[in-house]
This record gives sequence, structure tokens and C-alpha cells, in this order.
Amino acid sequence: MVVIGAGNGGLTAACRLAQKGIKTLLLERHNIPGGCATSFIRGRFEFEVALHQLSGLGSKDKPGPLRYVLDQLGVTDRVEWVEMQNLYRLVVPGQLDITLPADREALLAALQARFPAEKDNITAFFDLVYKLCIEFFSTMRDPEPSPEKYPTYFKYALTNTQEILDEYFTDPLLKLSVAVYWGYTGVPPAKLPFMDLAILLFAYIELKPYHIKGGSQALSTAILEKFYEAGGEARFNCGASKILVENGCITGVVTEHGETINTKYVVSNASTLSVYTELIDPEHVPEEQLKILGGSTVGPSAVTLFIGLDCEPAEVGIYETTNFLGTTSDINRVFSSCKKVDVEDDYILLSCYNVSDPDFSPPGTCQVVIVDLKYGEPWLEIPPHQYYEKKYEVADKLLDKVEQHFPGFREHIEEIEVATPLTHARYLATPGGAIYGFDQFAKDSNMFISPRSPIKGLYFAGAWAGMGGFQPTLSSGVAAARQVIKAMQSEAEVGA
Ligand SMILES: Cc1cc2nc3c(=O)[nH]c(=O)nc-3n(C[C@H](O)[C@H](O)[C@H](O)COP(=O)(O)OP(=O)(O)OC[C@H]3O[C@@H](n4cnc5c(N)ncnc54)[C@H](O)[C@@H]3O)c2cc1C
Repeated sequence: MVVIGAGNGGLTAACRLAQKGIKTLLLERHNIPGGCATSFIRGRFEFEVALHQLSGLGSKDKPGPLRYVLDQLGVTDRVEWVEMQNLYRLVVPGQLDITLPADREALLAALQARFPAEKDNITAFFDLVYKLCIEFFSTMRDPEPSPEKYPTYFKYALTNTQEILDEYFTDPLLKLSVAVYWGYTGVPPAKLPFMDLAILLFAYIELKPYHIKGGSQALSTAILEKFYEAGGEARFNCGASKILVENGCITGVVTEHGETINTKYVVSNASTLSVYTELIDPEHVPEEQLKILGGSTVGPSAVTLFIGLDCEPAEVGIYETTNFLGTTSDINRVFSSCKKVDVEDDYILLSCYNVSDPDFSPPGTCQVVIVDLKYGEPWLEIPPHQYYEKKYEVADKLLDKVEQHFPGFREHIEEIEVATPLTHARYLATPGGAIYGFDQFAKDSNMFISPRSPIKGLYFAGAWAGMGGFQPTLSSGVAAARQVIKAMQSEAEVGA
């Protein structure tokens, strides 16, 4: 059994398979595990690459679905979790400055204090969010779900978020305040299924947002260690360059060093695009699969600034871990800007991990990561000789934005590293540096996509096989492993 890629999905798939006694080889082209879930060092700072707010974990007393997945793998207690008290602070200069606690009552109170004219609608909106999520969880356990049993779910799950926001609220700033998590999916409210926003809100309020001591690298390393303990073998600096197929069945994998590994089963954490257009020879790729891929579009990447400050967060006025810093309440304008290199209309996510975990960086310092969601395409059009100039010009403009909110910020910068969509593409090997896989439209979600390929023995785990983000990708690996084990069992039964 070969797993290609040691991102979240690949790691959990490999770990589960090895724990089930299946001889598993994990191939990773990079030199460390994690994919997005990793860190790198500059000066005295170890920078978190991707994790801002982990969803779905919950506490020991109130476990969420991700905790079950990590418990199954035996890694929950190998990692120290840091619970965040608030969902986020959202600022639109001169118009809005609101902090939403990760608690239903307190969150309602904060919103109702700022938007008193829409008090009842705020209550009604969150009643809908909760009802929808509770019905959704029930449908998953019900072999015969029907509109009669789950009217809210059937009515609203696929309705776009904008319709619901317009139905419930009038003030655009209120709509923004409850929908700012659209950025965690990369899909603006006009196209985002309301179910996706409802689940994000429900999960973060009920199960709280988390971070990890030592960053997401600590989780990736813990899963890898469990994989080794179960007898798994991993090779780093060892990408897969070919997946071999004969008569519609997997027969092996060729590494970038030219070694052929015979296997009937592959789980790919590499994107479906690269599997079907680069790793498998064209004559073995089912026509139908290419049509499906043709109907999907590559999702956004990001410009990311990793910054080490030589001071505590409070010294520059940072009091929240998660800050969304906006320019306008018009999300559609913000989303259009994701498709440009220019950053003028963008709102940014600024995370300062030390607010929740004072030990996140050396004493007297703090770590700040700024994420500006951007598609890869406009960056790919920049001529190579202009790339560095553009990259630092954009970083400079983003720092100007930060400086407006936190005067004196620039003076305290001790380390800074800038990543563009091209940087993410280089390290992740994803098309356009995409961080959530395909654009997360409903048709590309795991409601409609199977982690299994029409090629026998080929399975997918990770963002391209459903949804992006930590929780979905970590869970997807375990789901893919389950499918492989089932297929192996039925093959053994047929052979018996
Ligand atoms: C800046 C940033 C901020 C983010 N913020 C959040 C957040 O706050 N919350 C959240 O939930 N999510 C966040 N995400 C998204 C989340 O990190 C990703 O969606 C998720 O980690 C992707 O996991 P994956 O399983 O798809 O694998 P990936 O992380 O894409 O890893 C795939 C792995 O496969 C390897 N690979 C590819 N091709 C080959 C090959 N041919 N052979 C061998 N190996 C190969 C790659 O090197 C890589 O290691 C963020 C991401 C980024 C980059």
C-alpha cells in the first residue's frame, strides 16, 4: 500500500492503514511532514504556516468529530491544545469594531448591543444556524432522511448564504459580522452554501476554536510518530513521479528517484489534477474523470506574511488572537479583489498566536501571521523579472494596512518572510498554490465527491477530495483508509 503526500489527509490515511496492520509506505516530496500543516524557522522564530483556528476538536467533556478521529489514531493526548476564548475581532475602520466571543449567549449579546435594531433577527438567525446543524447531524445517522423529518435541512442546506443574510438582516455590517468566516472556505456568500457557513459558526461556537502548542507541525509530527509505531515506513525528499495503471487497476508507483514500487492500492494526498494529468499516463485516465475535473475550478491561495515582533502583543495594541481587518462591508468587492494582485480592497486575517499562548515565541516577542486570500492566476502572469519587486510591494502595502490598525507595528518587526501563491505552489505542489483544493462550491464538496477513483485501487485524501481546512482534511484520510480496508476485505473474501 502506498500513500502519496504527507499533508493532513495523507498522514491520517497512512497512520490508520498501518494501525490496521496494512504494510504502508508514505512518500513525501518535501523534507518534512505536514504539507500546509508545518512550520519553518527564521532567526529565533518558528513560524506557523497554516493553522489559524482549528475547528471540530471540542473538549474531553464535549468532544467534536475531529477529537474522535485523533483519538482513533491515538494522537489527541500527544499534543497540547490551546483553546481560544473568542471567535474573532472584526474591524472596518470608522464603521465597525466588534469582538465575537466563542459562546452563543455572549455572542448574541455582543451582536445585539452593536445592532439593536435587528435584535430579534439576530436571535432568529442563530436559531436557524443551530436547527440546521442539528438536523444535518441527525440526517447523517438516519438511513432514510426525508424533507418531512428534516424540513430545515432540506430547505436551507444548499441555499446560498447571501439569500439568508438578505432574508434576515438589513445592515451590511451585520451581514459581514456573521459571515466573515466565508474566507475560511474561499467562497463568497453569494456562492457559499448556507450549510457550510452554519457548520463553521456552530462548530466554532459550540466546540471552540483551538490552536496547538508548537503549532500544527506538532500535530503532523505526532501523527507521523504513531505511523512509525504501527510499523509504517516513510520516505522524505521522495516524490511519486508516476502512478502505474493496467486494465483500469493500480499496479504500482514510480518514485522521483526511478524506483518502482509494486502495489494494488494508492491513496493520493497529491491533488486530483496532478494525479490525472501528470502522474497517470493519459491513456489510463477515464474520459469521465477528465470531464468532472473540467467542471471544477482551482480555489484560492494566499499572500502570507510571517512576522516576528520584538515586543509583546499589547505593546502594539493587539489584544485578540484572530483579527479580521477590513476596508468595506461589500464582500463581493473583496472577493473580486482576490482575483487581482492589487490589495487595496482586501481584508486581511491577522493572527497573533501569543495572545492565546504567551509561550508561542521567545519571551518578550510575539508571532504574527497575516493572510490575504488570493488566487494564483494573476501571480502566474507576472514576468519572472518583476516577481520580487511585486512581492515586496504587495507586502509593503499589507504592512501599511496593519500599521493603520496597530500604529508602531513596523518598528517592532524583527523577522519577516513573505509567501505568495507561487511560494505555496512550490512547497505544496498544488495548482496555483491553492490551499483549499478546488473552489469549494457545493458540487465539489464531499456531499457529492467520492474519495474513490474509477481506477480500481486508487483513493484520494485531502482538500482535493472534498473540502479544504484542517478538520476536513484530517478526517478525509481516515475515511479514505476505511474505504481501502473495505476494498481489501472484499477482495480477500472473493479470493477465499
Ligand atoms: C496560509 C494558510 C492558512 C490556512 N489557514 C487555515 C486555518 O486557519 N484553518 C484551517 O482549517 N485550514 C487552514 N488552511 C488550509 C489547510 O491548511 C489545508 O486545506 C490543509 O492543510 C490541506 O491538507 P491536505 O491534506 O489537502 O494536504 P496538503 O497540505 O496540500 O499537503 C499535500 C502534501 O502532498 C505532497 N505531495 C504533492 N505531490 C506529491 C507527489 N507527487 N509525491 C509526494 N508527495 C507529494 C506535498 O508536498 C504536501 O506535503 C490554511 C492554509 C494555508 C496555506
